[in-house]
Amino acid sequence: MIHKTEAILLKKQDLRETSLFLTFYTMESGKIYGVMKGVRGQRGQYGWSPQIFSLNEIVFYERKDKDVFIVSQCELKDFFGAIRESLERTSYAAYFTDLVNTLTPACEKNEEMFKLLLNGLRLLSGQASPRRSARVFEIKLLALLGLSPRLEACVVCGAVKPEKTPRFSFKNGGILCERCAVKEKEGVPISTGTINFIEHINRSDWERVPRIKVSLDVGQQVEGLLRRFFEYHLHLRLKSLDFMKKTQVIMDERQR
Ligand SMILES: [Zn+2]
Repeated sequence: MIHKTEAILLKKQDLRETSLFLTFYTMESGKIYGVMKGVRGQRGQYGWSPQIFSLNEIVFYERKDKDVFIVSQCELKDFFGAIRESLERTSYAAYFTDLVNTLTPACEKNEEMFKLLLNGLRLLSGQASPRRSARVFEIKLLALLGLSPRLEACVVCGAVKPEKTPRFSFKNGGILCERCAVKEKEGVPISTGTINFIEHINRSDWERVPRIKVSLDVGQQVEGLLRRFFEYHLHLRLKSLDFMKKTQVIMDERQR
């Protein structure tokens, strides 16, 4: 059976003389592994090779008893040139694709996941800061995975909108009221601004997201909280995250 679908390239590895081993996230079939022949070297029939986090239209087909497909066509739809002009933005795009690659099983169709990645890359290539784009992507990714932190009520006793100084529990995946925080002997402070920002992003569609304002303090708390939340619940070890942190240090130094 031959498939034709939009696909974002998640990963690219050299294979033998002139072939590539490619991991795509596709609209029609979710994540797929494919081999593309004759794309490398001077005599490659295409004279180019697909780039990481580019959007393409691909044609692929199955080989008998193999779960790696043959990719017979790959037509570039969006290169996301604005992202590639900046090392910082490029490192964030690599982080987005790395997250999707790590957290999705092969051959499981999920149109929402495809749209999330595409919207994340579009946000990153626009006016929004890379940091903001990453927070939006992370918050919406957690929602899609059914792992959103619970912020509307205490996760233990269910008290709605507890006092002004709730605490956040990584173990319980949400906020604790003061009494439960004492009982559970855990939780880090979480500000109302942080709670509001995460809830606001969850409620907003991608068109409205770039207009959501956030203060520096809240931005930093959200970043730290989400990073720990991802580590605690998803146990991620991503090379792209280290790369992103390094470019962030460079950017912060330049701004001083
Ligand atoms: Zn409680």
